Amino acid sequence: MGRYLGPVCRLCRREGIKLMLKGVRCETAKCAMERSWRNSPPGPRRWRRRRTASEYGVRLREKQKVKRFYGVYERQFQRYFAAAERSRSNTGEALLTLLERRLDNVVHKLGFAPSRRAARLVVAHGHVRVNGRRVNRPGYLIGVGDTVAARPAERSQKLIRANLGDGGGPPVQAWLELDSAALTGSVRALPTSEDVQIPVEVQLIIEMCSR
Ligand code: SF4
Repeated sequence: MGRYLGPVCRLCRREGIKLMLKGVRCETAKCAMERSWRNSPPGPRRWRRRRTASEYGVRLREKQKVKRFYGVYERQFQRYFAAAERSRSNTGEALLTLLERRLDNVVHKLGFAPSRRAARLVVAHGHVRVNGRRVNRPGYLIGVGDTVAARPAERSQKLIRANLGDGGGPPVQAWLELDSAALTGSVRALPTSEDVQIPVEVQLIIEMCSR
């Protein structure tokens, strides 16, 4: 499947939840999901009427929700699922934990970028370093004890400082630690399913992908 280049608010409207793909705008009244006349599935009006979804349809929506939230495509998702199935822990929890450990997700949660989509670019353009090494793969999996820092170059420091804002960044979850003065974050523990900020019935995804 190719990269989706269309309007991202459409994705939220399709899934019926805020996927927070536009950063600051998502928190304002300009968000399409906050406006009653746009808070409906996209497409011509006759298609917007909600029909009762099939069992397959319900499961597909749960899977798409997660893929769109984390910005991963089908093939990558299948790889995460296969890895989660191989793990010793609960498959659903392992799947969500793996997605949470993606570098672009961590960069966003540390406040280095306003959204996961923006974080993907921050990483791909080489603005961050992991354990002192330049990593430009948004899907890089972060582990316990890893340090994510802004590249020393002035351009990267300026960008990340601006994204953190005057308040020194957002409150971070317990598994992360942020030093906003040094533009550095570290991973204190692996995330759990409680750290996942998307309402999803992961069991439905497992039922669909295990077939
Ligand atoms: Fe989704 Fe953000 Fe657009 Fe709102 S503003 S519909 S949360 S992408």
